[in-house]
Parts: sequence; C-alpha cells; structure tokens
Amino acid sequence: MLEHSHHYFNQAADILALDGKMREILLRPNRVVKVAIVEEDDDGHLMHYTAYRVQHNAARGPFKGGLRFHPSMDEDHAAALASLMSWKTAVVDVPFGGGKGGINCNPREMSRFETERVTRSFVEQTKEIIGPTIDIPAPDVNTNSDVMAWIMDEYSKHCGFSPGVVTGKPVHLFGSEGREEATGRGVMYALDEALKSMGKPLKGTTVAIQGFGNVGSHAARLLAEQGALIVAVADHLGGVKKDDGLDIPALFEYAQEHRTVTGFPGGDSIENTEIIGWDAEALIPAALEDAITADNADEVRAKIIVEAANSPSTPEADEILLKRDVLVVPDILANAGGVTVSYFEWTQNIQRYRWEYEQVIQELEKFMRRAYKNVAKVAGERSCNLRTAAYLLAIQRVGQAVLSRRSIHEDIKLT
Ligand code: GLU
Repeated sequence: MLEHSHHYFNQAADILALDGKMREILLRPNRVVKVAIVEEDDDGHLMHYTAYRVQHNAARGPFKGGLRFHPSMDEDHAAALASLMSWKTAVVDVPFGGGKGGINCNPREMSRFETERVTRSFVEQTKEIIGPTIDIPAPDVNTNSDVMAWIMDEYSKHCGFSPGVVTGKPVHLFGSEGREEATGRGVMYALDEALKSMGKPLKGTTVAIQGFGNVGSHAARLLAEQGALIVAVADHLGGVKKDDGLDIPALFEYAQEHRTVTGFPGGDSIENTEIIGWDAEALIPAALEDAITADNADEVRAKIIVEAANSPSTPEADEILLKRDVLVVPDILANAGGVTVSYFEWTQNIQRYRWEYEQVIQELEKFMRRAYKNVAKVAGERSCNLRTAAYLLAIQRVGQAVLSRRSIHEDIKLT
C-alpha cells in the first residue's frame, strides 16, 4: 500500500521537479510507534494485538488522522494512510499535519468491554505522543464515537481534562454537530462539483456505492435527499439494487439492525463483486483500499468515481480509468469532509464553545467546494488529472511550511 501512495507522490514530485532533499523529507514519516496490547478477554484469556501510530508530517500543524481497528492493520498500512492525511489536510487547508494508526484486532469478534480495554491500553501506552497540540486521533474503519469517548476519558485521567485530544466524540461529550455525517456530506459536495464540471445536475444522477459503513451510508442518505438515485449498494457480504433508486432511509434502518445491506427486502440481491462495474453514472467506493484494481478497472461503467474510501484504486487501475476518460475525484480531496469537521470540533474544544449544525455544514460546504475548485484549477493549469493536481497542491503547501520552519542556512529548497 505504501508503494501506491509513493507512486502518486512521485508522479507529482516529478512534475514539480521537487528538490531531492525535500522529496526525502516529505516521504519519510517523522515517527513510527508500535506497541503491544496485551489484555484479558471476557473469559480471562490473553488477547495479543499490535498497535501502530505513524506520525508522518507536522509542518502545517499537529499530526491528525484516524485510528483503525482491522486485522489488516500493520506498519505499512499506517504509514501509507498517515501520508495520505498529510496531503489531505493540506488540500482542504486545515491546520494539521498527517498521522494514522490502528490496532490489528477485529472488533466484530470482540465484546464492547474487550474493545474498550484494548482502546484504553492503546492510550495508556501512547499518551506521551498524542495530545491536543501533538497528535489528534479520530474515527476510521471500525472505530466510532464510543471509542473516541474512551480515548478522551483515558487520556484525561493521565493528563487532565483534554477534550481536544481526539475528534469524532459523541455530540453530548464535546463532539461536534455534523461530525458523524461529515465525510459522507463532503463526498456529496465532491460529486456535485464533478457533475457541475460536466454540466450535469445531481438530481436524477444514478449512483452505485460500495460500502455502507459510516461514510457510504451517510453519502447515500444525503445524495438521495438531493434527488440522486442510489441504484445499487454493496458491502462485504453482498449487495442490493433497484433501478429507480433504493429507499435509503429504509436501507439505513435495515443495515443498522442486520449489520449488512444483504437481504434488504426493498430491492433485488446482487453479488458484491458486481458493484464496481455497475451501470450507474457515478461510482462511490466507500469501503477499504484496493477496491478497483487492474483486474476490474475495465469493468467500470461509471463516468465519475468519487473516492470516499482511502486509497480505493491502485495506480494500475488509475491508469486504466484515465485512459478510459473516467473522472476520478481522488481520496485526498473527496473524503476530506471528515477531517474538516474534525478541525471544527477541535476548534470548538479549544475555544470551549459550541457551533450549531447549520454553521458546521455551511463551513464544511465552503471548505469542500473551495478545495475542489483549487484542485480543478491546478489540473487545468498543468493539464493533469485531479489526483495529480491534488498532490501538486498538497506537496507545495507542505513543502513551503517545511521550508519556512528550517534554517535559511540549510541547502534545501522546494524545486
Ligand atoms: N479517518 C478519517 C480520514 O481518513 C478522518 C480523520 C480525522 O478526522 O482526523 O480522513
């Protein structure tokens, strides 16, 4: 996975003719932390997991990024995802660097108590390297506001009351209105901007979505509210389709109860492998990485792909999609709504002040549309695709911050 993020970085760095030393500074993570989590399970047996936190770059502000609980989590994943966060925070221009971490556990097979113990153990062992001005975790795959509340509680036990140590907390516990739906809402604005660039309205656009977790489900709900037709949805167990649009509120309720969209009575069943090639105008991969690869990129029938997940397309797939004229809105732009509202939450925590929902979504819309326009402008100027343009913008912003922080006596430049 790290290879993929390096590939995209190098592509843009070559266009910029980025200085060799600057390239090294921007590629290497600042710090990699690995800790063993050894806790008793509910039956008194030992659970052994490995937790990671990779702090990639903090030139533009404290490290910022999610905490993922997934068996596939390892140092390579954390490092790749941490670098994506550095570029993402720069693209939407929020004052953070990039970090990411996780634990290689499977919360689906753990009780709530076990998940809590594992979370608290992680905080206990990383409390020196996280903090409201150091590194601020957030929800990611299989982590939610409950996990963030435990992080805040455990950290505050050791370091004093610190709501700003983590974002994505419950709204009643120093969280922000609109944070939970923020990534999905940002995806909606990204798709709207992409459609606008083709002269098309969101209303009536057909959309297929892979993944119905936090991001996919909220994106589906908000898009449907704007009149888009969600014609197919798939998750890791299966999928469901309806040509004139699924009833998303009903699907939302069904998925909450059954923890899958499979078997939803309001549509026909499909195989989850069919979703990438679904006949819809837009495709939203909102699950895990490497969903679109050299093996299935030729099947894509959508004209627009909005990367709601982190790193859902491999570089080989990206090439194929580019040749086929599919407009790809890259992850570091498309899914930046989450970290944008994390920034609003952190701001509220620091100011000890609360924003209303309307203010949050108004500001989010402004940040997302501005970021899209800035990226599209670079793409126009450089005659490149949106992904390369997003990297060009991000590398320049992070690079400038790195330079301004270093001594002028050093022989390091941007290009
Ligand atoms: N995990 C989310 C992401 O990948 C959110 C990160 C954050 O809010 O810090 O962008």
